Amino acid sequence: MAVLDIVRLGHPVLRTPAVEVSPDEIGSEPVQRLVDDLVATMRAARGVGLSAPQVGSGLQVFVFEVADDPELPGGPVPLKVVINPMIVAQPGRLVYDWEGCTSVPGLRGLVPRHPEVRVRGLDRGGQPLDFGATGLESRIVQHEYDHLNGVVFLDRMRDLRSLAFTEEWQRYLAGEENREHAAVV
Ligand SMILES: [Zn+2]
Repeated sequence: MAVLDIVRLGHPVLRTPAVEVSPDEIGSEPVQRLVDDLVATMRAARGVGLSAPQVGSGLQVFVFEVADDPELPGGPVPLKVVINPMIVAQPGRLVYDWEGCTSVPGLRGLVPRHPEVRVRGLDRGGQPLDFGATGLESRIVQHEYDHLNGVVFLDRMRDLRSLAFTEEWQRYLAGEENREHAAVV
């Protein structure tokens, strides 16, 4: 496992749609190494999700995990590896909450997301995945899925006036109940 550099906004890979992983290549050494490196890099960056484009790879792979940590409400969410995902939004009004992105460091903004999504794809063993995600997990999945389509959270914001630097966000905007509640993904 290696901790890789996370590319930042401006790198073309973040604006390039990722390509599907051929199912017979999922077990290959490069793909398995990519998965291991994504997990190691996500944990080192203290993020709750990471997609392949964020480490410069053009493959449809993302990982996420929320530790059992009082500073990360909404968890714990066990580690999941999702390859070639498709997501379908379930009925429900969009929910606004704070997000950040390790590829857009130092900023927080309010982003509307579907409260529940159905996720289909393949796991790192090439086996089918089909699960529902709600709450923080739903938000993370939508953020990571966007990365695979060249979309970042700034594109999803309806009102850029909530955009704030982390320090100012913590000082002025994060209420007691949602302090540290920005999903950094
Ligand atoms: Zn991100």
